[in-house]
Amino acid sequence: MTDTTKSEIYDEKLFKQPPPLDDCPICFVRLPSNQSAQTYQPCCGKIVCNGCMYAPLYDDQGNKIAERKCPFCRITAPTSEKEIVKRYEKRVELGDSNAMFDMGGFYDRGIRGFTQDYTKALELWHRAGELGNAQALQSIGYCYFHGEGIERNEKIALQYYERAVIMGDYHSRRSLGIEEMKAWNISRAKKHYLIAARDGNENAVTNVLKLYSRGLATKEEYENALRSYQEYVAEVKTSQRDDAAKLMHKKYY
Ligand SMILES: [Zn+2]
Ligand SMILES: [Zn+2]
Repeated sequence: MTDTTKSEIYDEKLFKQPPPLDDCPICFVRLPSNQSAQTYQPCCGKIVCNGCMYAPLYDDQGNKIAERKCPFCRITAPTSEKEIVKRYEKRVELGDSNAMFDMGGFYDRGIRGFTQDYTKALELWHRAGELGNAQALQSIGYCYFHGEGIERNEKIALQYYERAVIMGDYHSRRSLGIEEMKAWNISRAKKHYLIAARDGNENAVTNVLKLYSRGLATKEEYENALRSYQEYVAEVKTSQRDDAAKLMHKKYY
């Protein structure tokens, strides 16, 4: 196989729109691609949308239940950091890559009773990445990019970002677009932005708009990015999710 063919095959994988995430197991609407709009449950290992996560609970008399429970398996939510970590450890033991990814984050930020330890964080993310966890690959890339806990290496960082987007990661796609822009590979940058827009990344739409205003993208390309983003929103928007976003003062779509 020639090098050109190899890189063509690679590009085909790299510039493929990732399949939509599974539906939320409670409301059966597509999960938002942005991970901050979902919540991982360390009891049952399910990922539920924040709409379901923060929806008020009522008993059969119609009274609001104050006690928080997992919206999927109905187990009472953990009340202490220790209990949260215990649930995570159990999931990690079961080989759950989402639990490994989150645990890595606890070490990375030194939260939930852990002392900050980049080596442990990277260890967990590598394990999760081997199991196909796209977010973990993105996090490893981020560490290489910023020299966090590891020697800075932009080239390796971008390789991890590429592996992450191929696995469907939400955040890396726009970063790759920005890097292509720096290298003045405008058409590759636009390809990344368009895919990111269809996957719900509003900033990617802004990036295409900026290119349009500089004469580096056509009006059609901008319209296409905007339309793609709107199509995505139509697929994931629910009033419950809007309420959760308001509650957390965050923009979720
Ligand atoms: Zn839901
Ligand atoms: Zn649960």
